[in-house]
Amino acid sequence: MKDDVFEFNIEDYPIGRAVEISVEFPSFYGLQQAQAPLFIYRASEEVSPCVVVTGCMHGDEINGMRIAQNLMRKKLKLLKGTLIIMPVVNIYGFLNRQRYLPDRKDLNRCFPGVEKGSFGARFAGFIFQNLTRYGDYFVDLHSGTNGRFNVPQIRCDLDNPVIENLIPNLCIPVVVNSSLRDGSFREAINDLNKPCLVFEGGEGLRIDEAVTKYGTNLVQSLLIHLGMIKKKKQYDFEKRIIQRTKWRRATEGGVFINKASQGKLVKKGERLGELRQITGELISQIKMQADGVILGLNKSSLIMSGDALYNIGYLDSADIDATEEEFDYFDPTF
Ligand SMILES: [Zn+2]
Repeated sequence: MKDDVFEFNIEDYPIGRAVEISVEFPSFYGLQQAQAPLFIYRASEEVSPCVVVTGCMHGDEINGMRIAQNLMRKKLKLLKGTLIIMPVVNIYGFLNRQRYLPDRKDLNRCFPGVEKGSFGARFAGFIFQNLTRYGDYFVDLHSGTNGRFNVPQIRCDLDNPVIENLIPNLCIPVVVNSSLRDGSFREAINDLNKPCLVFEGGEGLRIDEAVTKYGTNLVQSLLIHLGMIKKKKQYDFEKRIIQRTKWRRATEGGVFINKASQGKLVKKGERLGELRQITGELISQIKMQADGVILGLNKSSLIMSGDALYNIGYLDSADIDATEEEFDYFDPTF
């Protein structure tokens, strides 16, 4: 990126205390420069293990920023290695309360980026070069989009042996096995043979403090596992591993009443919700078609035929129609 002014050199920052700086991003039309905060905490001369936490890769997913804030304000006592936190990566989308970059590109489909590509590709390259230079482990914080709530979960490739070994030590109730190759930050990090966990929780443009706690606990449990902070509290390491996911769609339009319990195992035949007419008359009940876990749901109450209602995770991959599996289920267009 031609007019970038930021190049990240870890040696520029002190050892033994956290610092917060402003990263200057390329300007709008040659006018004001956009700035975004960056937190750097070096515990030792040795940079590794280095954990990088990123939020707001999608500008409207502000719960990731809240988790980052929480970690930055916790006054963690780092015993070794380096912690780098960038609460708002897509500062352009954030300032406009939008998911995408100003050129309407999805930043999380532009990685690892190219120097001479579109604005999105250049910006992705700028971010990628700076953040991956030192990172050994990455946690990328996301949420559902506007009107779509995701239960706290991580998305990762369990075929990657480093991630498979990490999972039992992480505090997160739901793990979704996913190996999509989609130009995401996670994919580009995986291609460097480094582990990247994508946290999903909450919905766009909202902060949910319960979700924030899950995200904070996830990062802290990773830091404990790596010996970077002391263990102060007992975490719950129980988790469900989801092998496949699928959207349950409305077969007809109506007023949607949700009755489902999220994040827990729901048995085949259990009622998830119902669709009613304007008068209140029942149109249909929505029931679980196989045992599974509700990973996300549509928060809108006014539903059209074909609208996605529930994102359901299945514990084993058998007997599930795979036609929708090609789609990224966090993408708001599905
Ligand atoms: Zn996202």
